[in-house]
Amino acid sequence: MDIIAYTYDADYHCIFCTGKKLIAVARNKRKMGINTETSIETVVDNDGNEIHPLFSTDEWMELDESHLSENPIQHLTCGDCHTIIETYEHQGDE
Ligand SMILES: [Zn+2]
Repeated sequence: MDIIAYTYDADYHCIFCTGKKLIAVARNKRKMGINTETSIETVVDNDGNEIHPLFSTDEWMELDESHLSENPIQHLTCGDCHTIIETYEHQGDE
């Protein structure tokens, strides 16, 4: 199972930006003389919530019928760099 993104700060973030966040946290801790491990498991977001991985098999898209009819193509984008992580294309019921 592949991790395609992470969820924190009430948004999705690509793996690259998540890595940058971890490095920034580790750097800040070192500056303050805190010597604890910095990893996905130990870091919390700005709301104090854990960082959760989003797997390639997870449903991030909106599958509500009325929403789908207006948005058959949906993009999973990074909240930081706005890169498109994944695209979902709804196959109409033929
Ligand atoms: Zn990003």
